[in-house]
Parts: sequence; C-alpha cells; structure tokens
Amino acid sequence: MNPSQPVELLAPLSGMLLALDQVPDPVFSSRMLGDGVCIDPTSQTLCAPLAGVISNIQDSGHAVSVTDDNGVQVLMHIGLDTVNLAGKGFTRLVEEGRRVTAGQPLIEFDADYVALNARSLLTLMLVVSGEPFVVLAAQGEMIEEGRPVLRLSPGEAAADSIEEPGSALFSKPLTLLNAHGLHARPAAVLAQAAKGFSSSIYLHKQTQSANAKSLVAIMALQTVQGDTLQVSAAGEDAQAAIRALSALLAEGCGETVVTAAEPVEPVTPVSSAALLRGICASPGSAFGQVVQVGEPELEITEAGTGEAAERDALMRGLLAANEALQRLQADAAGSAQADIFRAHQELLEDPTLLEQAHLLLAKGKSAAFAWNSATAATARLFLGLGNTLLAERAADLSDVGRRVLKLILGVEDRAWVLPAQAILIAEQLTPSQTANLDTSKVLGLVTVGGGATSHVAILARALGIPALCGAPADVLTLADGTQVLLDADRGELHLEPDQADIDHSRAARERQGVRRQREVAEAALAAVTRDGHHVDVTANVASLQEVEQSLVLGGEGVGLLRSEFLYLDRNRAPSPAEQAGTYRAIARALGAERNLVVRTLDVGGDKPLAYVPMDAETNPFLGLRGIRLCLERPELLREQLRAILACAGLARLHIMLPMVSLLSELHLARKVLEEEARALGLSELPKLGIMIEVPSAALMADVFAPHVDFFSIGTNDLTQYTLAMDRDHPRLASQADSFHPAVLRLIATTVKAAHAHGKWVGVCGALASETLAAPVLIGLGVDELSVSVPLIPSIKATVRELDLADCQIIARQVLGLEEAGQVREALRLYHAATVETSSVVEH
Ligand code: PEP
Ligand code: MG
Repeated sequence: MNPSQPVELLAPLSGMLLALDQVPDPVFSSRMLGDGVCIDPTSQTLCAPLAGVISNIQDSGHAVSVTDDNGVQVLMHIGLDTVNLAGKGFTRLVEEGRRVTAGQPLIEFDADYVALNARSLLTLMLVVSGEPFVVLAAQGEMIEEGRPVLRLSPGEAAADSIEEPGSALFSKPLTLLNAHGLHARPAAVLAQAAKGFSSSIYLHKQTQSANAKSLVAIMALQTVQGDTLQVSAAGEDAQAAIRALSALLAEGCGETVVTAAEPVEPVTPVSSAALLRGICASPGSAFGQVVQVGEPELEITEAGTGEAAERDALMRGLLAANEALQRLQADAAGSAQADIFRAHQELLEDPTLLEQAHLLLAKGKSAAFAWNSATAATARLFLGLGNTLLAERAADLSDVGRRVLKLILGVEDRAWVLPAQAILIAEQLTPSQTANLDTSKVLGLVTVGGGATSHVAILARALGIPALCGAPADVLTLADGTQVLLDADRGELHLEPDQADIDHSRAARERQGVRRQREVAEAALAAVTRDGHHVDVTANVASLQEVEQSLVLGGEGVGLLRSEFLYLDRNRAPSPAEQAGTYRAIARALGAERNLVVRTLDVGGDKPLAYVPMDAETNPFLGLRGIRLCLERPELLREQLRAILACAGLARLHIMLPMVSLLSELHLARKVLEEEARALGLSELPKLGIMIEVPSAALMADVFAPHVDFFSIGTNDLTQYTLAMDRDHPRLASQADSFHPAVLRLIATTVKAAHAHGKWVGVCGALASETLAAPVLIGLGVDELSVSVPLIPSIKATVRELDLADCQIIARQVLGLEEAGQVREALRLYHAATVETSSVVEH
C-alpha cells in the first residue's frame, strides 16, 4: 500500500464516542501518549482497528498495540487503572508478534467485573505514531464495532528533507579573529548556523576538516587566533551557506572581535532583567502575570469551651476532612494524585497526632488550638530531621492540618479567581491546591518552599506545568499582574523580560510541545546513538502503577525500585505476604525478559519507620541509613529478602544494596541473601549489586567490582557526600549540583573499575533524568540510565541524537573543568548544537 494513502481505523468496540479531554486521567487527556479517541463501551470484545502486527500486548491483557506495515501504531487501553486488576477480567486472544486483520478480536473482557473493580471502563484508542487524523463520528454518538472512526493521513507525518550531494564550493581563505579560537561558544554558534542549511558543510584548517554542523568536530580542530580557515559546502544552498558562514566567522561567531580594517569598541553586554533564582521543580518556561496565592491567616482561640464540646468539634472536623479527601481521591486525575490524598487520610488517623491533640484538649484548649499545635509540632519535627522525604511529609501534614482547621473554624475555601496566563506565586503550595489547578489558566508555579522531589513538584510535572521552588522570599512581594518570564529549566524568574526573551520563551514552548509529542510517539524505539551504541533506558519506580506507565512510555525495565516506599506512610509493617505480592505483581508486569532492580530498604536515622523504634541521630545523613540499618536489624533485611526472592524468575531479578560504604557490608549482606535463598530452595541466586552513592565506594570501585554483578550510581547522595552539602539545604541547593566535576570524576572512576571487571554500571540518581547530562554519562561509559518515568521518552530520544564518539570527547573535556556551572554551560552549548529543535536548554 502507498504509505501516504489515508488509513481508516475501525472502532475497536461498540459504545459512545467521547473526546480525550473527557478522560479523567491526565496521562491520556494530556495526549502524553498520543492523540486519539475514547469509547465508553457497550460491547466486551476489543477488536483490531487496522491490519498489522501485535507490537505489544500487556500480560494483564488490558492494553494492546497494533502496528501496520507503514509504521502506523495504535494503542488501545481498556479502562482506567485496570493494571491493578492484574489480568483478572481479561482474556487475551492473540500473542505479541502475531499478524492480525482489521476487525479481528484481540481481547475479551468482563465489563461488569472491570466496571466494579477498576476506576472506569472508558477505553482509549490512541495513534501513538503521531499521524494527524480526522474523527469520522460525532462526540457522544453511539458507534458500532468495526465502523470507520478515524481517518489518518500518514503522509503528513514529518517529512525529512533529503540532502543532495553535489560538487563542493569553497569560501575564500579567512583569518580567524577570535582571541581564543573557536572554543565552545563560538563553535556552537557556527554549528547552529550551519545546521540551518541543507548542504553538507565543512570547515577546513590546513589539512584537517571538520563537519561544520558538529560542535565537537569544530572544537576538535583546535583553532587559535590567526588560523587560516575555509568553509566548503555541497548541496542546493551551498552558495548561501558559504556567504552566511564566512560572514559569521568574520564577525567572530557571536564574540566581539577586532578586524584590521575596522576597530570595534568593546561592547559590555548589558544585563537588563532583574533575576530571581530557584531550583527547577518541573521543566519548561512560561511568560505570564504574577498571581500571589498566599493563604490567609486563620484566627485561633487558645481556650476551649469545655473538653467534651471541643472533642466533638475535633471529631467533626476530622470526619469532614476524611470525606473531603475521599471525594478528592475519587475525582483525582491519576493514581499519583489519588495516592497523595490516600496518604493524607492516613495522617488523619495518626495515633501520635491524635494523642497530642487530645492531651491539649484535656488541658482545656480549643479543638482548633489543639489540632494546630499537634500538626505544627510534628511538621517542625519532620522539617528539622534534614531529610527530603520527611520534609515533604511536613508539607502534607501542614496541608491536612489546615484542611481540618478550616473545617473546625467554619472557614470556607474560596476558589481562586485566576486571570489567564497566571504564574502562581506562594510561600508553599499544598498538594490539594496543586491538584486542583486550572491548567487552562495556570502557566507556571513559583514557591519559596518545596523541593525538586516534593509532591507539588511531582504533580506539576504530571500536569506539565513549569515550576520553580526554593525561590527567595522577595517573590512574595511582587505585585499581582507583574509580567514575568519563568525559565524553570535554568531555575530563573525574570522580572523585567524584554520582548526578545518573551518571544524566545514562546517559541521554545511551542518547540518543546512538538518535540514531546514526537518523543512519546517514538518511545518504543531503542535508545541507540547515531553511531550504533545501545544504552538501556529503564525506570525509577515506587509502585506497580509506575511500572505499568514506564512500559507504555518505552521503559526497558526497572533500574531502581525504591522499596522503602512500600514502608513509609505506614503505621504497621506490611505483612510478608503483602510484600511478596507487591514484588510479584511488579515482576509479572515486567515479564521474564526485563530487568527488575529492587533496592533493599533505604531508610534509617533520617527516614524513621513508624513501626521500628530508632534512636535520634545527631547527623542523620551520616548515621544508620540504608544497608547499615538493615545489618543492625538483620530480621528486617531477611524478611524483605524473602519477599523479594518470591518474584525470582518472573523478571530478571537484581537486588541492590543502598548506602554501601564498606566492603564488609557487601559481604555480610551477600551471606544473608545466600542463606535466605538456600532456605527457599532456590538453585540460582539473583544478581547482587550495590549503589555507588558514597565517595568511599566510588573510590574503591575496583575493590568492590569483583564482588558484585553491577553498580548503580546514586548521584543524589553521591553529590551530597562528595561536596559535603546537604541535598535538601535550601541555601546550598544551587551548589549541591551533580554536574560538579568532582562527582563526574567519581562516576568515571566507577565505570572504569566496573568495566575492567566486566560489570555493568547504571546511573539511577536524578542526573540520569537530565537530558543535558546524557552526553557526559554516555561518554563516560555508563551502560544504563534509570530515569523518572515521564522522562523516559525524552532521554531515549536524546540518546538517539548523540554520537558515542562525540560524547567521549565532551566527557573528557568537562572532567577537566573547574566547577558545575562551567560543565552545565559546556553541555548546554553542546546540546544546542547537537540535539535538533531542543527547547529544553536552548537559549
Ligand atoms: C541517589 O541517592 O541518587 C538515589 C537514587 O537514591 P535516593 O534518591 O533514593 O536516595
Ligand atoms: Mg540515595
């Protein structure tokens, strides 16, 4: 068939046709996975919408993709959150790899069971390969299975221009005027300009030539002031290219240069915009107007009106809050939001909080005072422990505290009246406020508090809203309506942006949207560099839902299961059966061909477990954390290992130990693992590896390497321990930067030692999720990037745009730089020159 002929997709089910915007799940309604339609089904057999091959079918039978011979890929997902049903209610009628005809039955499902046990029966049909389409039925119309419902125009999907080689033209010889030759910045400017032409273009210095579209190649020419250069071009626009690039070189490629004929006054760049800096909590940029959304002070009377009355008032407040949270959970636009409100409900029942409040009631205090004091004291305690997870719990606690308080005081929540293009500014945004945001009006968030791993940041990322946290308190004094430019990628809020900045930001936003769509459509493609080097891109997860989502987004396995998330927020230990059940479900979702790296409990002095009594620590980050705690309490470790081993065989199981700093810790843990595996009658031990997140482990990687199967580098902790900077310290946040050459050198040491012993190395810290870092990590030889789930498509796409050889050059170069800022700048220039249409770091 002609690949540009329209393709019609048949309705896979009978039912009512709905627009994607009506799907109460942002993963689908935001079109993150692709555009398409939704059907509220009346039939119970899902059929192929087009002829093709089953490119993916989930073991649990709730989702299937069909790809036709021209690459049109259609994903069908039955119901919402149906992964939780673990296959119950679904019967698969086809296998992966099978060719199917249009209309062929693929999956049967029990609609009653699914409707009763999952969030919704709404079924999605998404064109994940990105072809534009027209919908052939009206919204709300009842359609029959097999009727054409979408008409695709495959020919309109991005047509690449074809380079036509011709005989090359050469420029006149030019003398290079730049004082330091074509170093990174002017080289990037030249490469960027060269990329604007379709001709193939080279820069020549004596007998050496460099591809003028490659920043690295230009830098590798090692030009100096006074060098004689020539530009050559072959292709349709060769003349224009030579003219433009010769002029650019004569002008200094963006640097001020003095020509012999015309001396130029040095120009000092004027910094026009007032700038406030923070930390990027959710990427992107936006231009809009300030809307301060501070919460009003609540008036609390200390004295009560009698213990019984106040006890009643507290009880009523707690009950009403519980109901409100139940409603919020039901309306939540995704499992991440629902989980947060579920955790809030748990806080309402927390025995310590209630005990503190009741003690105050018994002393004659009012319900409002007692509840406020109890929650505030616990939040302060959490904040003081110096741990991100607990600091975030403090924000949740304040949120719940305030919700109950308002109910006790009878203060009504007034909905924010937001203008269009709002940039919300607050001391702190609560998870409930973030979850309820009107994304048609809110373009960005800026908070003084919060962290890059806070719930607010997680929600902002899920909603695709750029967010900055850790901003100076000055932001709270900005007048409503002030026009500001938020550049979250750079951690900047510009208070006086000029038109050029604004236009640039708008264009970048548009490009980012286009790029995101393409990345998601191509998420199933392997992460292979242009010169054929494969990098595993896996997921950092904390739940079964995230595993499922990672697979849809092209994740190739799980590189880090943060198992402590099964334990935090709990007042009681999960039973061994519950633990084993969770690991089994996750392993089953991944299947026998994919890696599952389970990290053993990473809790300790700074992350206390509610049901394990622990002594307070003076220096929690330097105390009983991770493997140290587990070796102190071997029963805890043994129980967890038994549960993990229950999923051996269901996926390619790897066990990983956190916070290892001594070889003896690894030996002791291995002994425990061997004993438990033997007791369970396992003939084969799972792979055992360690996290490299303490400098001693990185420096001694050659000593550890013979005793492990793999390493995974935790750059979050490695950075804080290498630079001696608390990873959550609000004033050190911008300096505790994983791009610091000291951290990169430790990564280099680790990879070298591992490879010398034939072991693989992953990076699972946040650095792996940064597109900017991909060239240096790949260049240093990292084999696996384990990244946060929503970023999988973009990291895979970035890898596909790189060359291993270039990455090795840039990695060597940045290891020799002096500080993190220089590394970022070098990588930014490299990225702008290499990764096409990037909007993330181009400025
Ligand atoms: C790390 O330290 O980089 C890491 C991945 O572990 P966590 O962030 O869970 O401490
Ligand atoms: Mg860590």
